[in-house]
Amino acid sequence: MIQLIIIILLAILGAALGSFFNVLIYRLPLRQSIITPPSHCGECNRFIPFYLNIPIVSYLLLGGKCKYCGAKIHWHHLLVEIITPLILIGIFLRYDLLNIVFLKYAILALWMVPIFFIDAFHQIIPHKLSIPLIPLGFIFALFPNSDVNIYSSLIASLLIFLFLLLIAWLYRVAHKMDGLGGGDIWLFTGIASFMGIFNLPYLVILASLLGIIYFLIFIRSKDQVFAFGTFISASVVFWSLVSGEKLITNLLYGGL
Ligand SMILES: [Zn+2]
Repeated sequence: MIQLIIIILLAILGAALGSFFNVLIYRLPLRQSIITPPSHCGECNRFIPFYLNIPIVSYLLLGGKCKYCGAKIHWHHLLVEIITPLILIGIFLRYDLLNIVFLKYAILALWMVPIFFIDAFHQIIPHKLSIPLIPLGFIFALFPNSDVNIYSSLIASLLIFLFLLLIAWLYRVAHKMDGLGGGDIWLFTGIASFMGIFNLPYLVILASLLGIIYFLIFIRSKDQVFAFGTFISASVVFWSLVSGEKLITNLLYGGL
């Protein structure tokens, strides 16, 4: 019974967070303030009153359209408001609510939601989202009962940061253009600070597998942009929900 009440509360919290993520996804790439002005239609600029801004419900009642001008509201708004609570509930079902690891992976996995969509739509990862992950990962690593200790966290972030810096520099020298964005470097460093040195290789394999599957399904032309941030963020969510380490070991070495 208590479990059910917690799940309902997490669903409400998750839907509200999803609604906030939609604001981030819309405004961060435009470099707009995320606080003011209040929610408004991107087409007719009319403000959206709170009773028309209820996560999921409002979208469905209005048929995915602005009440005033009829402009279509992109389907990802609804998707974000549905998957955010699902991720939160999934993390709750995997970890003990009172364990610091629950909070750690809830924050990490939820953090990936706006990053996934912003990178998928705009091929950028805002620094406002990527850089705070680095100190947050260190803070969680300082808790004695965390799954990754501070040394593992520090070494993983430092190694991945220097490695990606080198790759970015080599690419620039070879192609006379930027291939690896600064956003990717900060995001990976932040994820490394959460994951630690032992989990990181599995996560990179998982992200690469997702990338390969994506390429096999949606064959893209060579000059199309490739947003690796979407694959790494999807992998982080997946990892947080299931035991990624076990899964990859099974995939690579067989056995179930
Ligand atoms: Zn409108």
